[in-house]
Amino acid sequence: MAKRVWTAALLGGATLALASCNASKNDSLSGTAALDEAEKASETLLKTGGSGDDWGAIGFSYDEQRFSPLTDISDKNVGELGIAWTADLEDARGQEATPVVVDGVMYVSHAWSKVSAWDAATGKPLWKFDPKVPGERAVHACCDVVNRGVALWGDKVFVGTIDGRLIALDRKSGNELWSTQTVDADKPYTITGAPRVVKDMVLIGNGGAEFGVRGYVTAYDADTGKERWRFYTAPNPTKAKDGAASDEIFATKANATWSDKGEWQTSGGGGTVWDAIVYDKDLDQIYLGVGNGNPWNHGTRSNGEGDNWFLSSIVALDAATGQYKWHYQETPGETWDYTATQPIILAEQTVNGTPTKVLYHAPKNGFFFTIDRSNGKLIDAKPFVDRINWATGYDLATGRPIENPEARFYKTGKPFIAIPGALGAHNWHPMSYNPATGLVYIPAQQIPQGYLQDMNELDKRKVLGFNVGTSLTGTLLPDDKAAFRAAVAATTGRLVAFDPRTGKVAWAVDHPAAWNGGTMTTAGNLVFQGTSLGRFRAYTADTGKQLLDLDMQSGIVSAPSTFRVNGVQYVAFMTSKGGAFPLVAGVAGGATRKIPNIPRLVVLKIGGTAKLPAPPATTTLAWNPPPMTASAAQVAAGKAQFGRYCMVCHGDSAIGNGFTPDLRVSGTLANADAWKAVVVDGALKERGMVSFAKVLTPQDAEAIRAYVIERSNWTKANLPEASAPVGR
Ligand code: CA
Repeated sequence: MAKRVWTAALLGGATLALASCNASKNDSLSGTAALDEAEKASETLLKTGGSGDDWGAIGFSYDEQRFSPLTDISDKNVGELGIAWTADLEDARGQEATPVVVDGVMYVSHAWSKVSAWDAATGKPLWKFDPKVPGERAVHACCDVVNRGVALWGDKVFVGTIDGRLIALDRKSGNELWSTQTVDADKPYTITGAPRVVKDMVLIGNGGAEFGVRGYVTAYDADTGKERWRFYTAPNPTKAKDGAASDEIFATKANATWSDKGEWQTSGGGGTVWDAIVYDKDLDQIYLGVGNGNPWNHGTRSNGEGDNWFLSSIVALDAATGQYKWHYQETPGETWDYTATQPIILAEQTVNGTPTKVLYHAPKNGFFFTIDRSNGKLIDAKPFVDRINWATGYDLATGRPIENPEARFYKTGKPFIAIPGALGAHNWHPMSYNPATGLVYIPAQQIPQGYLQDMNELDKRKVLGFNVGTSLTGTLLPDDKAAFRAAVAATTGRLVAFDPRTGKVAWAVDHPAAWNGGTMTTAGNLVFQGTSLGRFRAYTADTGKQLLDLDMQSGIVSAPSTFRVNGVQYVAFMTSKGGAFPLVAGVAGGATRKIPNIPRLVVLKIGGTAKLPAPPATTTLAWNPPPMTASAAQVAAGKAQFGRYCMVCHGDSAIGNGFTPDLRVSGTLANADAWKAVVVDGALKERGMVSFAKVLTPQDAEAIRAYVIERSNWTKANLPEASAPVGR
C-alpha cells in the first residue's frame, strides 16, 4: 500500500490525493500505515535534506549531520552577518533546542518543555504551547528543565515533556492533538531529548539514570499515540519477559551480562536513551545511544561482574518492529557515567579502499568511534581530547578498551581522579559533519572528577537525590586555595575538528570555558558555534580560521540551524546558560558565571541591522555573610548533606552559577525558620525546590545552613573575584 500511495503522490492531482486520503491506515505492508501527502513531504525532506531551504529536524535530516548545502552565506561574506530579529523567551533556564524550520515557519522548544512557532523571516510569533509541567518535577531532572527540540511530521509537531509525556500538536495552531504518558510517573523519569519520526511512528526515550530508573525507547503511532513497540535497554529486575521487542535478546544473551547480585535489581539499572535516536534510511534500522548504569558504580550495581548490556552502547534495531539487530558497547562494565547518548552522525567513508556506510560517535569517554553500520563492527577508536586516563586505547580486534586498572575504584578501594569525569569529554552539545572537508566538529571539554567507593550511610540509595554509588561529597572542590584554583584551571573547553579518516585532530580552537556550544556546518565552508561566554562565531570548515565573532550578551550552548526564505539565508540559535556543568561547577565555570542568563531566540542574516535589546543592568549582589556560629562538627555534617543533595543544582562549595539561586547570598540564610520552610517544608516547590523532608531532618537542614554560611565567609575571604555572587 505504501508504494501505491507513493506512486499516486508522484502523479499528483486532486483525485489521486483524495484516493490517498481514503486509503485505510490498516491496509499496509510491514506493519506501517499509509502516509498522507503532508507526511510524505516530511519523509522526503528527512530522507534527502531537500534544497536546504528547510531545516527539517533538529539534526537537519535523518543522517543528523547538521550540514546545510546552502552557500549564500559563505567564507567570503560571513563577516557581514547581522541580526535579522530576536525574541526574548519567558524562562531564564537552560535553552538547548535546535530550531526546526519548514516552509518558512520556525518550531522550537524551550525550558519546561514549552514549544513556540514563529514566522522564520520576520520573527512574528504564530503560537506557543505550554504543557504545564508541575514545578516540583524539576527535582528529578539531573541537569535542568531543558528540552533539545521538537520533531515535525506532516501536520503535526511532537515534543517530549519533563514529566514524561509525549505530546502531538497541530502544526498550524499549536493545539494539542493527543498526549500519552510514556513513563511511570511515580519514578524519577524525565524527558529532555527530541522525539524522532520514522515511517508513521514517533520514537521517544527518557532520562533518570542518576536517580534510578530502567531505560527504554518506545515507538508510538504518530496519528494516535498508541504504542507500537518498546525496547528496554536494561534488563527486567527479575530477568522475566516484558512482552517487549527486547525480550528475545535479553533472554538469549543480554541477561547473562548482569550479575544475579547487585543494586540494579532495585534501581532499574539505568541505561536511559535521553538524546540520540537516529534512523538509517539506507539500512532501514534505528540506532539508540544508551546512557550510564545506575548506580554508576559497577561494583555495587552488578557485583563488579559482567559487561551489563546495553549500557554505554550503540544499539541497532529494526525500524518497523524494534527487534535487536546488533550493538557495540563503547564502555563495557560502565562505572564513570560514560554515557553513549551523545549525538550520532551517519556518513559514508572509504575504509581500506571500500566505500562503507559508517556512523560517527564522540561519547563522554573521550574516544571517537567509527562503526560499520551494516554489522556494528568497530572500524576505529581514537582520542579526540588530549587528556584521557581511564584507558590507553582500543583493541580493534576485540573492540574493547585497554583500561587503566586504577580507574576501577571499586576494585582498588582507592579514589581515582578520572579525566574525563561524569560531565564527559563531550556531552549533549551537538557535533556536525561536513562531507566536503570530511571533518567532524565536536564541542569537546576536559573536566576531571574524583570517584570514590560508596563508603558511608549517607551515600546509600535514597528516595531523593542522585544515587550513583560513589561519594559526591568526597568529590567537592578542596578547601585549600591553591588546590581549588588548580582544579578550576584544569577545566577547559575546545572546538575540535576531528578527521575520522586519519583518527587525528585536524584543527582545534581552545575555549576558556569548558561548556561550549553545539556546532553546525555548511557547504559555504563554514562551521558555526556559540560559546558559553556569550560569543557567536564562524570558522572556515577546512582550516578553522575565525571569520565572525558577535557579542550575544548571554551564553550559547545550543546548536544553530540555517534555512532560506524568499531567497535569503538565515542562521538561528538560542542564548542562555544551562545544563549540568554550569549548575554544578559554579566557580569552575569561571567567567561564565558573570555572563547574564538571557533566554532568547536570535536569527541572523547578511546585512541584518536589528539590535539586541539593551543588556540587563549588572547587579552587584550584597554579599554580607552571616557570622559563623556553628561548630566545626555541624559544618562538616552540613557539608556532607550539601554534597549529597544540594550540589548538583546549587554548585560546588555553594558557589552559585547565575541561574539557580546563589545560596551564599540567599535572603533565608540568616534565618533558620525561613531556611527550614524552604528546605524541609517545600515553600518554593512550584519553582522546582521541593521539600526534602523525606531525606533531611530539620537538624540536617540547619547543618546545611551552617555549611553554606561557612562557604559564604570562606569564598568571600579567599576567592572574592572568582566567586562573587551574580544576579540571575
Ligand atoms: Ca548520566
